[in-house]
Amino acid sequence: MFKKTVKRKIVCEGYGLHTGEFSRITIHPASENDHILFAKKVGNRVRYIKLALDKVKSTMFATSIGDDQFTIFTVEHLLSALHGFGIDSAIIEVEGDEVPGGDGSASLFAEAMLDAGVFTLPAKKDSFTIESEFAVEHNDGYIKYSPAATLTIDGIIDFAHPKILKQHYTYHNTPEHFYSEISRARTFGFLKDYNTMQSLGLAKGSSLENTIVLDENDIMNPDGLRYPDEFIRHKILDLLGDLYTIGTPLKGHITSYKSGHALNHLFVKKFISMLEKGFVTEQQVLQPAMAFTA
Ligand SMILES: [Zn+2]
Repeated sequence: MFKKTVKRKIVCEGYGLHTGEFSRITIHPASENDHILFAKKVGNRVRYIKLALDKVKSTMFATSIGDDQFTIFTVEHLLSALHGFGIDSAIIEVEGDEVPGGDGSASLFAEAMLDAGVFTLPAKKDSFTIESEFAVEHNDGYIKYSPAATLTIDGIIDFAHPKILKQHYTYHNTPEHFYSEISRARTFGFLKDYNTMQSLGLAKGSSLENTIVLDENDIMNPDGLRYPDEFIRHKILDLLGDLYTIGTPLKGHITSYKSGHALNHLFVKKFISMLEKGFVTEQQVLQPAMAFTA
């Protein structure tokens, strides 16, 4: 298995789900040593951050990354598409403060990546595996890990809402499975939470065009759902994206129960601490990034 990048430049633009502001990302092909790099103009300078766990700034309703100079909001659906398509190296130029939201799924990025194609780089793919089982808990949810040769996510949710209830889906991380079964699953929210989110400055760009909205008993979107179990599929989409905040693909069997960004982040932190304690079978070699002019 070799590292991959995008075959040609990809441009995605639109309004952010949380800021409601227009933004654009350009995903540039990159070399095998580049890793996933975000590039953003701050003043007259282009600043880069290499995707890594210590760049996660917030996990409240969405995942944001950045440093002391800037923040890029809502990266999880883009990261999910990169993880799903097996893209190890790319330079992501961001114009604006948030990744475009598209239709609330990862479709915007998945369609563009499918269209552009992937390019195989002359270096062996890095991946992280941990040799022992472990679990993290948050509120009444948990994520369990056990070693495996590939990445599988068993996702379970259980909502009291009559249109969701208990849902279980098993995802095997391949570009084909991601594209056909996960990438189109949209984010969802409850009408009763909308005012709270707005008062927190979130969901300013949310509408029925990019969010499945549930009132007390029903789904408010006139066209209904894309998959009968779209909710758990979106939870898996989010988890796959949050796992990629490590910046390197991981292998293992993951069982998630009632996952969310905060729980996902706890899991990733524990995963990294286990790696640092030496439960590693394949160690990534980090190398300096290639120069890039935005
Ligand atoms: Zn999401």
